[in-house]
Amino acid sequence: MSTATQANAAGQVAYTFTHTIDGKAEAGETSFEVINPATASAFAQCPDATRAQLDRAIAAARRAFPAWAKKSFEERRTYLHKFAAAVRERSEELAALITHEQGKPYPNALREIAGTVHSLEAMSNIEVKDEVLRDDGKNRISIHFRPMGVVGAITPWNVPVGLASHKIAQALYAGNTMVLKPSPYTPLSTLLVGEISRDILPPGVFNVVAGGNALGQWLTEHEGIDRISFTGSVATGKRVMESSSGTLKRVTLELGGNDPAIMLDDVDIAGATAKIFNGAFGNCGQICMAVKRVYVPENLYEPVLEAFAELARNHRVGEGFEPDVQMGPLQNKMQYDKVLDVLEDTKRQPGVRIVAGGHPLNRPGYFLEPTIVADIKDDARLVTEEQFGPILPVMKYKDLDDALARANDTTMGLAASVWTKDLAKGAEVAAQLQAGTVWINHHVGSEADIPFGGFKQSGVGREHGVMGLQSYMEPQIINVPAQ
Ligand code: NAD
Repeated sequence: MSTATQANAAGQVAYTFTHTIDGKAEAGETSFEVINPATASAFAQCPDATRAQLDRAIAAARRAFPAWAKKSFEERRTYLHKFAAAVRERSEELAALITHEQGKPYPNALREIAGTVHSLEAMSNIEVKDEVLRDDGKNRISIHFRPMGVVGAITPWNVPVGLASHKIAQALYAGNTMVLKPSPYTPLSTLLVGEISRDILPPGVFNVVAGGNALGQWLTEHEGIDRISFTGSVATGKRVMESSSGTLKRVTLELGGNDPAIMLDDVDIAGATAKIFNGAFGNCGQICMAVKRVYVPENLYEPVLEAFAELARNHRVGEGFEPDVQMGPLQNKMQYDKVLDVLEDTKRQPGVRIVAGGHPLNRPGYFLEPTIVADIKDDARLVTEEQFGPILPVMKYKDLDDALARANDTTMGLAASVWTKDLAKGAEVAAQLQAGTVWINHHVGSEADIPFGGFKQSGVGREHGVMGLQSYMEPQIINVPAQ
């Protein structure tokens, strides 16, 4: 961590964080506290953008747009690769900030920054090609992809810099300029990314403004924004879609999930439970595509439960800078209270067994034991809602039709997984799951060149890959008659 953002012994960071507007630092007229979830106390101040600052950021992005859009993909790639290199140089500082504000273990925060560098590089290596659709002697008709304008990006608190990097890479490489608003729970690492960009990108191409939910709404309503890229909850996604409709902005919504994992009866119990456990409890369960429900054949139920319980009991929970910690706290008080409420509701369900965990840790901060729940009914909140925390319901099923019907019985459809030694059978089951991504024998992952997004209320549109890049561009048909 550089001296700039180093924390003192009490964990306080005295660094002055600033918005990035038109390539320059702008202070806040007012600020708000950022809480360290491992201590439940404030450790730094974040500037709170005013409406005038947002207007200036959007005006700067509009001014920068024509020249940036005119640059070739190769030129924009060079900028993004330079940006990636500068982020890599500040990896430790960024990761330490993420651990302070988000709570995840420091090695995982370092991996988030490595992923950020990779996304900036790999997404700007993807080629978007124009195509001739018809050339029949009468007409030559081709399709081209044009930059859209100014992208407004809004990010959540679970993977603050990693998720922002997908939006930055795709929007900028496609020839758009951007105004990015991070979550008020985890704004500082993203503000630092904005600061790093100032020496690299032309002024106005990339602006970062921090603030609360109202700032997000101003952004989605603003006439100067052409496209919204939103990652967050289903409830907010609906509001974003509504307020974007005033100017018919193009919208991508990456929302929540209630991902099922289905074990088939030939599953390798030890291997599958270990991977499913990581897929459920990574980032303290706060991953959109985390495993949120597990379905197990009746005859394997008890051994599978015991394997999960053993993993949960041995999982090391603690503050992100403590050595060997595998899971940090929940990220904020609101989420902690919500997850505790779901846990209390779970405990009240008739016949439920808590086979591991089930309690908050006796220390400051928003810590909860990794919790495994058995014999819960399908209509309990833990099963029907996205828990977004370290509690996993494990349910038994009679036959595959039963498992598939229950796995699909949800308003969400982000991802799912099937666990079996028979890969052909796994693919057959996968095809019957209503989810944007279905993995066989793994769960959780995001790749720069593979489209990602949800069925049903898990989202609108796809990001990543050629499909994702094209969603940041307007398709244009050019129709030329033969002479
Ligand atoms: P959230 O919806 O509460 O907030 C997300 C962002 O939206 C924040 O920056 C917030 O300030 C902003 N916001 C709030 N109200 C707004 C409004 N009316 N208009 C515009 N912006 C507004 O989500 P969260 O709690 O920060 O994140 C957790 C959720 O995100 C979970 O549901 C999770 O599944 C989802 N998520 C989805 C993906 C994905 O790729 N599908 C990835 C990560 C997280």
